[in-house]
Amino acid sequence: AKARIEHIALHDSLTGLPNRRYLDQVLEDYAANARRTGGYAALLHIDLDRFKHINDTLGHAAGDAMLVHASTVLRSKVDGEGFVARIGGDEFIVLCVVHDDIEQLALLADRVICQMREPVYYQGHRCRFGVSVGIAVDNGKDVEAKHLLVNADIALYRAKSRGRNRYEFFTEAMQSEIVETKRIADEILGGLERNEFIPFYQPQFDAKTLEIVGVEALARWRHPEKGILAPDVFLRIAEELNVVSIIDRNILEQSLLDLEGWSAANLHIPRVSVNVSARRLQDEELIKSLRELNIKKGTVAFELVESIFLDENDDFVTWNLEQIKELGIDIEIDDFGTGYASIVSLLKLQPRRLKIDRQLVIPIVKSPQRRQVVSSIIEIGKSLGIEVVAEGVETMEHAQTLKSLGCDILQGYAFGHALDADGLKAFVRSRRLRTERVLDEPLRLGRV
Ligand code: C2E
Ligand code: CA
Ligand code: CA
Repeated sequence: AKARIEHIALHDSLTGLPNRRYLDQVLEDYAANARRTGGYAALLHIDLDRFKHINDTLGHAAGDAMLVHASTVLRSKVDGEGFVARIGGDEFIVLCVVHDDIEQLALLADRVICQMREPVYYQGHRCRFGVSVGIAVDNGKDVEAKHLLVNADIALYRAKSRGRNRYEFFTEAMQSEIVETKRIADEILGGLERNEFIPFYQPQFDAKTLEIVGVEALARWRHPEKGILAPDVFLRIAEELNVVSIIDRNILEQSLLDLEGWSAANLHIPRVSVNVSARRLQDEELIKSLRELNIKKGTVAFELVESIFLDENDDFVTWNLEQIKELGIDIEIDDFGTGYASIVSLLKLQPRRLKIDRQLVIPIVKSPQRRQVVSSIIEIGKSLGIEVVAEGVETMEHAQTLKSLGCDILQGYAFGHALDADGLKAFVRSRRLRTERVLDEPLRLGRV
């Protein structure tokens, strides 16, 4: 009876594999033994991909069957050469010993990944899942084998973020990157509380008259020590933290205040465009919170990247978009030409504007072919009554070319970088002074 109780305490009842507790007990011994025989302990952390999906769609019994299947695959692939455990949910561990041939771990991981990719049948349903694997090898220095678990977990995280169905070995570089990311993540959360995320504004110009027709609000982080930081420093991590929607909302609210300020100061800035993340578009509260802002028709545009429209079946997003339009907010397709969305699916949305990505715009002065591509996009826009904006207008030659191709609106370093609200005010004023001086002459590109 004692042995039975012990067995139960150390094994997982579903798969019969050793459990987390058992693993903890053997981990230190394994590492010590391995070292004694001139080898190293290695740990594979295996996590099923798409397991949750199976659980959600076919039920828990199906999920259980998949776990049992996975445990059978692991047992057969490891084949007595290591210790296999299930440490929770859909996570498994293989503990083994390597003698200077690290490559064999990669081969083992490959075999597991290949086998797990094969479809499994459950009550006539064809189920497919995959696995990601993080691998850590005891470097001989670690006193605590527990570090192996942590390191394998870090490597697993990397394998998942690199697209799943693959393995990654833990490295020291991964470790320091994770520490750095964690540090920035904490700072971002603090920065949100202290309202450190603010909009900078880059002006947009009518291609023909060169009048300012709007500004794009671009998020900046006013960091207490490092000064103004651009999105490349914080956006990816903010996405992982799931706080981009909060940043987007803050930027919109501040933009509306600044718009009022500019209008009170008699600067004619008719519109502000804000970037909107995919998450925000799925927000159930979005429309309600937009209503409360009392946005004046035509003064705000939402820039949405193509990838948002890839999933045509998302009725909720479609509904949200219709509501946004009804509130008088323009929809613009951002980074047009870089995504994988079909032109047809984009045009179904009837956006007010298309914004040609700067990667397409920058080469037009050197390459006639690239110019032709941009020209075709402008033609498409024209034929459908959609305005075309070009970003990345870096030189007056770009501006001239785009104007001759029929592009409506220009934005880029040729005219101005992003500035804070006061900076923009000064920019608009000094421009006005200059244009008043040349009022008698017709405005020409290149002059301003
Ligand atoms: P984007 O929407 O494509 O924004 C334009 C970016 O191009 C800005 O970089 C701008 O500074 C830069 N740019 C402007 N003119 C030129 C030019 O002539 N040449 C070149 N090479 N670049 C130019 P920034 O401010 O670093 O923003 C990077 C990206 O971050 C944005 O790309 C946008 O996708 C994202 N982002 C910025 N603010 C927000 C925000 O508030 N919310 C969300 N969700 N994303 C934002
Ligand atoms: Ca944008
Ligand atoms: Ca863009």
